[in-house]
Amino acid sequence: MELIFEKSIEGRTGFCFGSSDVPDKAQISEKYLRQDEAALPETSELDVVRHYTRLSQRNFSIDTHFYPLGSCTMKYNPKFTEMLSNLAGFRNLHPLLAQLSGGERWTQGALQVLYELEGLLCEITGFSAFTMQPLAGAHGELTGIMLMAAYHKAKGNTHKKYVIVPDSAHGTNPASAALAGFEIISIPSNKEGGMDLEALKAAVNDETAGLMMTVPSTYGLFESHVSEIAQIIHQVDGIMYYDGANLNAVLGRLRPGDVGFDVMHINMHKTFATPHGGGGPGAGPVGVNEKLVDFLPVSRVVQKENGMYALNYRYDKSIGYIASFYGNFGVLVRAYAYILMLGKEGLRETASHAVLNANYIMRKLQKHYKICFDHLCMHESVFSASNQLERGVHAIDIAKFLIDQGIHPPTVYFPISVPEAIMIEPTETESKQTMDRFIEKMIEADQLSQTNPQAFKEFPKTMPITRPDEVKAARDIKTSFFQKIASP
Ligand SMILES: *Cc1c(COP(=O)(O)O)cnc(C)c1O
Repeated sequence: MELIFEKSIEGRTGFCFGSSDVPDKAQISEKYLRQDEAALPETSELDVVRHYTRLSQRNFSIDTHFYPLGSCTMKYNPKFTEMLSNLAGFRNLHPLLAQLSGGERWTQGALQVLYELEGLLCEITGFSAFTMQPLAGAHGELTGIMLMAAYHKAKGNTHKKYVIVPDSAHGTNPASAALAGFEIISIPSNKEGGMDLEALKAAVNDETAGLMMTVPSTYGLFESHVSEIAQIIHQVDGIMYYDGANLNAVLGRLRPGDVGFDVMHINMHKTFATPHGGGGPGAGPVGVNEKLVDFLPVSRVVQKENGMYALNYRYDKSIGYIASFYGNFGVLVRAYAYILMLGKEGLRETASHAVLNANYIMRKLQKHYKICFDHLCMHESVFSASNQLERGVHAIDIAKFLIDQGIHPPTVYFPISVPEAIMIEPTETESKQTMDRFIEKMIEADQLSQTNPQAFKEFPKTMPITRPDEVKAARDIKTSFFQKIASP
C-alpha cells in the first residue's frame, strides 16, 4: 500500500497515457525540457464538472429556449432522427469501404439510404436527379453554379459572363456566383417586395449565364412571377437557379422543377431535421433537370440489375468531386428518416404550419412594429423598428431585451435593405403558447420604448457579458473570460 501511494503521481501518469506514449526524456533536446514544475490547476473533478455544466447552461439552445431567428429554419432536432443517424451500422461505417472491391456488399444499407433519399428529393422538388455531396447550402450553390458553367461550356456559350441576383436573395448567392467566376448583376425589388421585372428585362442579354432566386425570398415573400422570369432567362439560354433553403415554406405545395427552374439546392439542416447551429454540420444536396444531369459530381449511387446498390464514377461530363466521399452522411440519414416519418401529408402540413405561424406573429405585432410588406408572408416576416428608433431604441436594443426574457433574438439588420430590420421566423414546430409569450414580450418591449427608452441601454442584465464592442470582440478574441462566466 505504502509503496503505491509514494509513487503516486509518476505511476499514475504512466497509467493514464500508457507507458509507451510517454517520451523518454533522453530523446528530447535539453533546451525543450521544462525547467520548473508545470502550473497545472489544482481542481477536483466535481469542480470541473460544475464548471463545464454551468458553461453549457450559458448556451442558448433549441432544447432550452425559443429561437425565432429569421432566415435560419429548422430549430427543431427530433431525438428520433438523432437516434437513427447514430445507429452503429451508419456511424461506424468506414467511408472507403464502399470503394473497396467487394466492399459494396457491406455498405448496401448506406447506399440504399442515399439512393432512396435521392428519389424522395426528386419527388418532392420535381427534379430528375440529385447529388448528396455538397456539405452546406452555400456549398450547394457553388456546385449548382459550377453545373451552370459546365452547361454553357459544353454548349460553346463562351460569351456567358453574368449571373443575375435580385437584392432579396440570400447573401451567399452573389458570393457563390462570384466564386465560380461570374460577374453579378443585382436587380432591385419593387414596392411589393417582388423582383422589378422591367429592371430584369433591361439587364438580361446574350451574356446572361443564369439567375439565382431565393423562393420564398429573404423578405419572407413568394415571388408570383416565377414563370415569367424563367421565360425571360430561358430565352437567352440562361439557367434558372432555385435557392431552396426556405423550402419548408412550400413543401408539398410547389415543386421548383415544375415552374421553370433548372437547378436547386436544399438545406437539409433547415428543412429536414439536423441540429443547426455553431456553423454545422449541414448538407446541401443539389437537384437538376435533364439539361444538367450529365454534369453532376461523381460518385453517384446506382442500382444494378440484380438489385444491389453501387457507386458509379463513369460520367465523362461530370464536374468531378465536390466533396470527399458522400457528403455529410449523418445529416443525410436524419433527413431520410425525417421525410419518411412525416410522409407526404406531413410534409404538406409542415408548410401550412410554417406559414400560419409566421402570419400569426406578423398580424399580432403589426400594431406595434412597422411591417415592411402588408400582405401574406410565407415562413417569416420582416419588421422595422423605425417607430421605436424615433424614441431612441434600436433593433439591437430590442434583441438584447429579449435575451433577458429567455428568448433568442430574431435576426436583426437583415435584410440589409430594410432599416432597423427585425426578421422573425417561428417555424412549423413551435406551439401557440410559446409564440404568444414571444408576442407578449415584443409588445412589452414596444411599451417600454415609450415609457422608459433609457432602460434599453442596460440590457441584457442577466448575462455575464452585456454590451460588447462587437467589432473588437470579433477581431480581438479573448478566451479567458469563460472562467468569469462559469464562476458561480
Ligand atoms: C442559410 C441560407 C443559405 C446558406 O446555407 P448554409 O448552409 O448556411 O451555407 C443560403 N440561402 C438561404 C436562403 C439561406 O437561408
